[in-house]
Amino acid sequence: MSLDPYEMAKTQIRKAVDILNYPDKENVYARLSVPDRVLEVYLPIKMDDGTIKVFVGYRSQHNNALGPYKGGVRYHPNVTKHEVMALSTWMTFKCSLAGIPYGGGKGGITVNPKALSKGELERLSRAYFRAIAPIVSPDKDIPAPDVYTDPQIMAWFFDEYSKIVGYNAWGVVTAKPLELFGSLGRIYSTGYGVAVAAREAAKVAGFDLKGATVAIQGYGNAGYYTVKFLHEWGAKIIAVSDSKGTAINRNGLDPDDLRNWKHNKSKLRSVVDYPGAEERLEGDTMAPLYQEVDILIPAALEGQITKDNADKIHAKVISEAANGPTTPEADEILNEKGVVICPDFQANAGGVIVSYFEWVQNRQGIAWTEDEVKRRLEEKIVSSFHAMREAKEKYKVDWRTAAYIVAIDRVVRAMRLRGWL
Ligand code: GLU
Repeated sequence: MSLDPYEMAKTQIRKAVDILNYPDKENVYARLSVPDRVLEVYLPIKMDDGTIKVFVGYRSQHNNALGPYKGGVRYHPNVTKHEVMALSTWMTFKCSLAGIPYGGGKGGITVNPKALSKGELERLSRAYFRAIAPIVSPDKDIPAPDVYTDPQIMAWFFDEYSKIVGYNAWGVVTAKPLELFGSLGRIYSTGYGVAVAAREAAKVAGFDLKGATVAIQGYGNAGYYTVKFLHEWGAKIIAVSDSKGTAINRNGLDPDDLRNWKHNKSKLRSVVDYPGAEERLEGDTMAPLYQEVDILIPAALEGQITKDNADKIHAKVISEAANGPTTPEADEILNEKGVVICPDFQANAGGVIVSYFEWVQNRQGIAWTEDEVKRRLEEKIVSSFHAMREAKEKYKVDWRTAAYIVAIDRVVRAMRLRGWL
């Protein structure tokens, strides 16, 4: 996205704070538009060929009025300080809206992890966590995965921190592997949450999930699990895209069969070549957006739904698995058309919600059953959806702004009680 994400985050805060119209709204804006702290670290790593390469990493801690900073760490060549600052701001609001006792944080390393050997990746991960160790702890800041980081990297983070403090600090990192007391359900938590949000939105839009049609753009982890659950609940998946193109079948695609086929052991394939498709659109990654369907799930990149294509969307419900798939102008167009929208930080909060459950289990030294995790996750997504819906009615605003209003107001109330404003 060409827009600086940090500028975008500030614009969204400005809008919600103006609508909430606090008497001290300039103070509120001043307080929320900057993170509490951004740590920048330089990480000299001995590469396999003996040379030393220095990587830059960040940890941004936006706000901890509601609890310890919380959020993932991404490894990506495009990571910048501003991006991490924006993402940490969004985490504050994601956690607040989800009703979990956390503030917002985010970290990142500017690196292409695919170009590293496993040993280099491990050395880099350990060096990063050593460097941020002074500002994290189970009560201060709790990292987790984000783009291109996974449970193995969380295991290295956890191990490095535990060596520093001299005991097993289970609660310092979440989305750990199950063997290291990760939580059941964490793997599909984001998709499950997106599906539950879509189900609640369908009730508001006035249709039943049984027989409802779904199109999805993107078929990674979150996308796959979203449609897997919607399919289980009776919906029909008629269009799926990945980075190579789109597969369509008006009679319905089977999410598991499609996934197994795509992730065939010998080679990674694209959905466009899926034998179960009726129609295959090679190179067309936008087709799912324009299908005549009840539910649309953007689960790919940011900036997909814009003012130029929003009027080609026919869906009654949009539940956003991706971060930032809809631009602000497109949002307005979709709202005018009466589309029920579950915005990214409401719909895709399942990951951090189950991270919270993992942290709670770790701190108590117990493990919940998978059913318990699912039930509690569902409860949180349903209640954040309805809090957003009530704010939408009260303030007569679009869905995304309503979500911001709920999230920001909870943080502001906490800051006020603590004497920060
Ligand atoms: N990176 C995920 C997010 O942005 C998960 C964060 C977490 O589990 O703390 O929501």
